[in-house]
Amino acid sequence: MTIDSDRFREALLEERTRVQAALENLREETAGTLSDDAGEESAYDNHPADTATETYERELDYTLEENSEHVLAAIEAALKRIEEGTYGTCSNCGKQIPEERLEALPWATLCIDCQRDLERR
Ligand SMILES: [Zn+2]
Repeated sequence: MTIDSDRFREALLEERTRVQAALENLREETAGTLSDDAGEESAYDNHPADTATETYERELDYTLEENSEHVLAAIEAALKRIEEGTYGTCSNCGKQIPEERLEALPWATLCIDCQRDLERR
């Protein structure tokens, strides 16, 4: 069975555009928040509680950004595998990854068995 990699390439490219846009939004928001805060801090006395909440929210943004970057790297790797002709093959056991799995997770590198093995360890 050969995988229709064109179909998955399109899905991956679409997802990449979406993640890149999300990352850009996130970065703009973070940059905006940072400069706003700097202005406020010099003008007013901040309540410690407010500062703590803001720090927490900013950390949440950074985690989101990290996740998005991780997904983006996985998408790039999957696109490379399509070019190399190794897309859809489990990188651990070399078996074909079922198309249903690739539809759910187009950048998957492991078949479901190997993924479960990995999670069990
Ligand atoms: Zn496998």
